[in-house]
Amino acid sequence: MNHLNDKVPDKIGRITELAYNLWWSWTPEARGLFRRLDYPLWRKTLHNPVQMLQEISPLKLQEAAQDSTFLRQYNKVMMLFDDTMKNHDSWFYQTYPELADKTIAYFSFEFGLHSSLPIYSGGLGILSGDHAKEASDLGLPFVGVGFMYPQGYFRQRIPSHGWQEAVYQQLDISQAPVLPVLNGDGHEMRISVNLGGRRVSARIWHVQVGRNPLFLLDTDVDENEPWDRELSARLYSGDSETRIRQEIMLGIGGVRALRALGINPTAWHMNEGHSAFLTLECIRELVAEGKNFEEAVAIVKKQSIFTTHTPVPAGHDAFGFQMVEQYFNGFWDELGINREHFLSLGGHEEEWGMAFNMTVLALRLSGQANGVSKLHGEISREMWQEVWPDKPVDEVPISSITNGVHVPTWIAGEVHNIFDKYIGPGWLEQHDNPAIWQRLAEAPDDEMWDVHLALKRKLMSYLRERVRRRWVNGTNDPTQVLTSGTLLDPEALTIGFARRFATYKRATLIFRDLERLQRIMMDIHRPVQFIFAGKAHPADEPGKSLIQHIYNLAKHNQLGGRIAFVEDYDMHMARYLTQGVDVWLNNPRRPREASGTSGMKAAINGIPNFSILDGWWVEGYNGANGWAIGDEREFENHEVQDEYDANFIYQVLEEEIVPLYYSRDRDGIPRGWVEIMRECIGSNAPMFGTRRMIKEYTTELYIKALRASEANSN
Ligand SMILES: *Cc1c(COP(=O)(O)O)cnc(C)c1O
Repeated sequence: MNHLNDKVPDKIGRITELAYNLWWSWTPEARGLFRRLDYPLWRKTLHNPVQMLQEISPLKLQEAAQDSTFLRQYNKVMMLFDDTMKNHDSWFYQTYPELADKTIAYFSFEFGLHSSLPIYSGGLGILSGDHAKEASDLGLPFVGVGFMYPQGYFRQRIPSHGWQEAVYQQLDISQAPVLPVLNGDGHEMRISVNLGGRRVSARIWHVQVGRNPLFLLDTDVDENEPWDRELSARLYSGDSETRIRQEIMLGIGGVRALRALGINPTAWHMNEGHSAFLTLECIRELVAEGKNFEEAVAIVKKQSIFTTHTPVPAGHDAFGFQMVEQYFNGFWDELGINREHFLSLGGHEEEWGMAFNMTVLALRLSGQANGVSKLHGEISREMWQEVWPDKPVDEVPISSITNGVHVPTWIAGEVHNIFDKYIGPGWLEQHDNPAIWQRLAEAPDDEMWDVHLALKRKLMSYLRERVRRRWVNGTNDPTQVLTSGTLLDPEALTIGFARRFATYKRATLIFRDLERLQRIMMDIHRPVQFIFAGKAHPADEPGKSLIQHIYNLAKHNQLGGRIAFVEDYDMHMARYLTQGVDVWLNNPRRPREASGTSGMKAAINGIPNFSILDGWWVEGYNGANGWAIGDEREFENHEVQDEYDANFIYQVLEEEIVPLYYSRDRDGIPRGWVEIMRECIGSNAPMFGTRRMIKEYTTELYIKALRASEANSN
């Protein structure tokens, strides 16, 4: 921060503090302040205040410090900021004052907080980011632990042949909202772990997420060997050995980082099995204090919470016993157990033989576990029943808490304003209360529709300007100018599909009967168009071939530019898409979608879902707030399922969605459609926000762990 402090005039000096607290990113008043400071630069830096303050001319800052309107706004924002940081009226503090001095540690491999900190790949990361933000809003005593990946996930480029290329860019960390943690003597703090016989060190980056810190480990430090320096360079790019090394660093190194910082959590939440080694480190500490293994396990179980995130077996990391031995040889002695006992903690029969499964480890050593939707809870109980061989499936202790999205992050400013006006300015504080949403009936149809159309135009101009910028910079060939959304028609019914290109998500299902789809799309009176976006994992060849398939259709002149594939999907683009299309499409192979969250982002903005009854939509769909694909039926044969689901999609499009969208009254307003938009918001907004979710995590899981620790220390 120091390098900025010299430049910023005292009168607005705390604006750097604001830039380094991601609170600004979900607070409209704070965003407005940065926008006002230098709007072109705000846009150029893709809303990155840290970079902006570095690049802004000192003159602009001087002017701002003299401008009474700016100063008034600045003071207002800083007052709001200080009030928020005090925390005394937060939900947690008011509800559980006796637990306010405890700490919940939340470990995750990825955090999707803002596009200026690209340390996420998809849904899991976005969920962690939203979880951390809401934990701040509700005042939970919370600290996050993750990785700083200086090369992030990857940037997606799609050349004219349509085969995705992965570009790794070194993040300029000085332009990210992170600062190194320093020791008392002013040097960077270090922690280290033993990785296969070598000490590997990590520095710790601090990200402030509202009221709470998030700490990110980074092994790119001078004293490490080159191989070790690379360890945290990228997210999910390595082989299985890189992965176990990363997971040891996150789990064991993460515990050590918190200890080094003087933070002693009373509840430990593992978001996914990636961080499950943390339980072993906690056991090791207790054994070193004189407990025996069983006593230590009992304590660790009480304080540990585990959330599993996918019903896809390959999504659960498992390591060969030999590799585990190589990295944990000797560690089991410190736990007071032998090799066989150690390996049995994660023992699980994989398709390729017995292995050490991180989900099994996490389940064995956490007292509380959950899936991320009701259906996913059910599937998880079946999937992991073997961990409790003496319990019938329905008594397997894996509960469920359905995911949510952080409403202030994902709501469009324009929609926010409508809610302020018709529900009342306090709506955000109470948005998990279903009763307040009845007031949305008072928002006039034309106003709701106008706001939606404005957001749709905003999306199209965002896509157009994005292509223009790339074209000017010479990174695009002319084909891409055609395929990236420049030919989209702002009047046409627009369907959005954006997510990771994992094959179970069936991105190309809609193209199964191309002729039928073409008839739907090319109707001159009632045209329909599609916007696709998403990355395939760099090693996922089938996923990449789905992208190529869509890309080739986007180039096809017979489809008239009504299909766009927009490269390099990220949070920034996700906001435009989930706020600006007309319908959000999701057609995974049931029951593979544990929850899904992009549809929730769309729903809170009044964009109805058209989705398979999988994940959250089984709970969200009520017959009047969007459309279902299929009827919860699952076929053994994938071909049959695909055929059935595709036909279902065409039929609902032809008979319901398209006619309703184009049925306008004399003022040009589709009254029936607006009714669905209103129902979509009213029924989903209270249920699928992280506000409801974090309250459930707190009352159902965290509290138990926090109170158990009290019993221990007494
Ligand atoms: C919300 C979001 C996701 C998650 O989408 P799903 O519908 O859960 O697949 C993935 N990537 C980005 C960039 C997002 O914003």
